[in-house]
Amino acid sequence: MSRRARPGSVGRQNVPRDQWLEIGAECPHCGERVTEEMVYSWRPVPDDPKLLLLWCPDCGDRVEINHV
Ligand SMILES: [Zn+2]
Repeated sequence: MSRRARPGSVGRQNVPRDQWLEIGAECPHCGERVTEEMVYSWRPVPDDPKLLLLWCPDCGDRVEINHV
């Protein structure tokens, strides 16, 4: 969980919403597929309604998706 990236920019991916709901996204850390079932928070930041937070089941890393 220690990364040197700036807060708020850690591995965020832009994924079309339809694509994300259908096939999920890829963990930027280990490449495991993360899906809707692993969503931790659908809207963690009120000012940023497109942001999704998930936890990767494989490496435990946080995955941020910006569904567009
Ligand atoms: Zn992972």
